[in-house]
Amino acid sequence: MKRLTFICWMSLGLVSLTLSILLICDLMIGLIPDQAAQIFTYRQKYSEAMAVQYSILAQREDDQDIQQALNLLVERNADIQSVALVLENGEIMAMAGPHRALWSQPSGDRSTLDHIQIPIFKGDLHWGTLQLRFPSMDTGIWTHVLDNTWVRFLVLVMVYGFLGYFLYMKRTLRQLDPSSVVPMRVQAAFDVLAEGVVFLDGDDRIVLANRAFSLIVGVDPHDLIGSTLDGFEWTSPDPLTPLITYPWKTARQDKCLNLDVPLVWERPGKTVKNFRVNCTPILGVRKQVRGILVSFNDVTVLEDTIQELELSKIELEKLAHRDPLTGCCNRRALFEAFEDQWERVQRDGTDLVCIMADIDHFKSYNDRFGHAVGDQVIQIVAQVLSTALRPLDIIGRYGGEEFCILLPGQTCVEGMLVAGRLREHIERLASTAIRTTSGQKITMSFGVSAAALGASDYLELVAQADKALYVAKENGRNRVEQWMVNEAVAASAQDEKLMSHSVS
Ligand code: GH3
Ligand code: MG
Ligand code: MG
Repeated sequence: MKRLTFICWMSLGLVSLTLSILLICDLMIGLIPDQAAQIFTYRQKYSEAMAVQYSILAQREDDQDIQQALNLLVERNADIQSVALVLENGEIMAMAGPHRALWSQPSGDRSTLDHIQIPIFKGDLHWGTLQLRFPSMDTGIWTHVLDNTWVRFLVLVMVYGFLGYFLYMKRTLRQLDPSSVVPMRVQAAFDVLAEGVVFLDGDDRIVLANRAFSLIVGVDPHDLIGSTLDGFEWTSPDPLTPLITYPWKTARQDKCLNLDVPLVWERPGKTVKNFRVNCTPILGVRKQVRGILVSFNDVTVLEDTIQELELSKIELEKLAHRDPLTGCCNRRALFEAFEDQWERVQRDGTDLVCIMADIDHFKSYNDRFGHAVGDQVIQIVAQVLSTALRPLDIIGRYGGEEFCILLPGQTCVEGMLVAGRLREHIERLASTAIRTTSGQKITMSFGVSAAALGASDYLELVAQADKALYVAKENGRNRVEQWMVNEAVAASAQDEKLMSHSVS
């Protein structure tokens, strides 16, 4: 429809141009002669010929013959309405037709288009005048315009010109229409494909767009013809690597396939679509790029699923490393962190503090309030400990109601201060968080050791902190103890004593 309107306007423009040229030519060289002037000349000449005959009759003064001749003239010549032979003194000698009614004397001796008067001479004397009344040309403006040959000619040029131009342009434009290069059966074959397919010509203009692509972009396939793909809002799916060149341009430039390029199409207020785009250049015999075949594979659903799977994977990994009751690191994650930290200690020579913490008389919570409340106590203790630590510190549930805390880069003295603060937080905050335990204060005991105290590996460091915790329990609970080297010596002496006793 749009195309037909365009052709109509073009045809009208060409017709106007043709008419203008004709009018200019007429003004310059008088293309069409003046019709009124031609008629006047003809009537004048005809009247003069008549006047010559009547002057012969006038010589003879044959009144009867003159009257008869006038009657015959009016009868046989439909173009003459009336005729009269008027003498020099104004007297009508002979007359045919309603001459008196029709004749109105023009000023002077002049003739007009419909009133012709020719003088008749008898010898050298002016004997009379032959008056001929022709039909009036003054038939109203419209009749005048429509009777005008020039106007009729222009109207014909206008009508036939418009039709001619219209048909010619329709045919020519069909030949020039880019879509006409694609046979119908090829278009039909592309239309059954589920993926969007577009064929670009040598100037990157669309010469074919299949139904799937038209549905993707929401534009009629015919309206896509002649436009470019660059006009759509394509972006890169990765905000860190913005789209520099469209894949079809790269394929044209490199004259080779450009496959599986991720593209995103964002329209304001509409869902974002993800595509995988394949571009195949069509090469001519001299390896020149004659066109590009571009296919758009809609992977929006697939990408969404992949994203969901990624999130699930992250969630699963989190679960695999977290203790489900407290959200702290589980033993596995704790030992992985230990390995990393110990490696750093070895490499950088920095210190590392290990704190072992155990809830005092925890068994009694279970016994008095049940296992569920016992769980709540473990949870609240984990929460209080976590909030009191730095983000880079690591806290793991070592087992039951026992926690292991790593303070990277901290010395034993600093570790003792942290443990003291944690002990004070637990005593102050943990009990208030659980109403059921009112009356029974939640406390914890802490054992502290640091890499700088001489552990050969992280397992020994944990063992040292655990021994210090044991000492804290022994010394009355709700307290912090640091691992001492002499405790180890004392412990090994004790062990040796026991061994020798058992041997003897
Ligand atoms: P101590 O001051 O010497 O540490 O005394 P305690 O009562 O805390 O003694 P112990 O550490 O031996 O007791 C731990 C108890 O914690 C034993 C076990 O039934 C209980 N327990 C271990 N894991 C869980 C758990 O996940 N939930 C609950 N509710 N109880 C647990
Ligand atoms: Mg305990
Ligand atoms: Mg315990």
